[in-house]
Amino acid sequence: MIEQSINVLAAGLRRREFSSVELVKHYLQRISALDPQLHSFITVTESNALAAAEQADQRIAQGDESPLLGIPIAHKDIFCTTGVRTSCGSRMLDNFVAPYNATVVEKLNAAGAVSLGKLSMDEFAMGSSNENSYYGPVANPWDLERVPGGSSGGSAAAVAARLALATTGTDTGGSIRQPAAFCGVTGIKPTYGRVSRYGMVAFSSSLDQGGVFARSAEDAALMLQTMSGFDDRDSTSLNEPAPDLVSGIGESIAGLRIGVIRDHFDQGLDPQVATSVQTALAELEKLGAELVDIELPLSKLAVPAYYVIASAEASSNLARYDGVRYGYRAEDPVDLEDMYKRTRAEGFGTEVKRRILTGTYVLSAGYYDAYYLKAQKVRRLIRDEFVDAFKNIDLLAGPTTPTTAFTAGAHADDPVAMYLSDVYTTAVNLAGLPGISVPAPLADGLPTGLQLIGNFLQEDRLLRCAHQLQQATDWHQLKPDLV
Ligand code: GLN
Repeated sequence: MIEQSINVLAAGLRRREFSSVELVKHYLQRISALDPQLHSFITVTESNALAAAEQADQRIAQGDESPLLGIPIAHKDIFCTTGVRTSCGSRMLDNFVAPYNATVVEKLNAAGAVSLGKLSMDEFAMGSSNENSYYGPVANPWDLERVPGGSSGGSAAAVAARLALATTGTDTGGSIRQPAAFCGVTGIKPTYGRVSRYGMVAFSSSLDQGGVFARSAEDAALMLQTMSGFDDRDSTSLNEPAPDLVSGIGESIAGLRIGVIRDHFDQGLDPQVATSVQTALAELEKLGAELVDIELPLSKLAVPAYYVIASAEASSNLARYDGVRYGYRAEDPVDLEDMYKRTRAEGFGTEVKRRILTGTYVLSAGYYDAYYLKAQKVRRLIRDEFVDAFKNIDLLAGPTTPTTAFTAGAHADDPVAMYLSDVYTTAVNLAGLPGISVPAPLADGLPTGLQLIGNFLQEDRLLRCAHQLQQATDWHQLKPDLV
């Protein structure tokens, strides 16, 4: 049962072969059996899940055929959920119970998807390994000694271990695509503004975008089209209707021009990952796509520009955690200043403090022009470079990450080495484009990811290409021994 797609399970529910309550119980049992080794969940909401499953069964009995009705999913703990703690992986929000649902949660609830709980993540979505969570590190289901990637590591690990059919995540610089690649699942980050940020705890507002993890492009398409659409509560939401990502997914990709980003096959790329990605590209060629080489020389500036802009925005967004309105407050402060200082000193972890300090520095008088303004100019040039590339090609392709999942602790003392896990992903966020990571062949027994990047609003094309690849190969069906 756990290997079936959402469509097949939804059909089984409609034919009453099993109920949503039974399906949800099965997944809850898997979580209790396997998650003690993985720690992918921060909070499991068993009774809420069973109540939602009962409601789904009633809707099914009334003939409701919504495609996600009764399907077990889970949310990254960055999305606000009424009545359930939303920690964002931080001590600062360990006691925070949101009084409202994020739009993403609301839309999936309305579709009848059943949430099993809230998934672990790097604190405030800052990290590439899920080692920065206040609740402890998450293990990679393929090798428990290795990281699942981050910041949405819990979301990727849970799908890889078959603890949920699909999960939500967020991607500010790679946090969906990178963990998807490390855990061997499909992860899509849509065009900036496609998915509402309302109720999604802010890290870097001009880069943050919600998206999906699933075992296949087809499942991801169902989830993403349900989560997408204009939201007047998010001022950066795109005024576009939710796209139909499912009906055209079976169409051929013959004739599609795919630009292979040569700069992403540089000396920083592990040779085995390169071979896996080349194999996946060759498969796309067999399916009729035309591969053309593309140079994106400015993409090498993406990581520095990203860390300036993301940290600047984080320093401003995280100013709200002052111990006054909600969240953690230091005990027995002697005065207001002591309360602010100790609340923030005790409530935030090391990486979050590093970002706040960097961000405050690049925004300060005297350094603003040299760092923040310069980074914004680089951001515009990177975007223009993509816009130019898309004049001649339909999609871009390359590796998602330079290596396979690294061992826990490997980059503990070297933040820059950690930041380089995102060398191939951050440019996409700076430009606001959609990107997907799709499993390519294993390298030394570990998953690798092929990254496809689309032009603005072309999630349908990305998913179609990923789906065709998954119809022709079985890399996305490989599973860790743990499962
Ligand atoms: N790893 C990157 C960072 O630490 C990206 C995080 C993300 O996409 N949320 O900022």
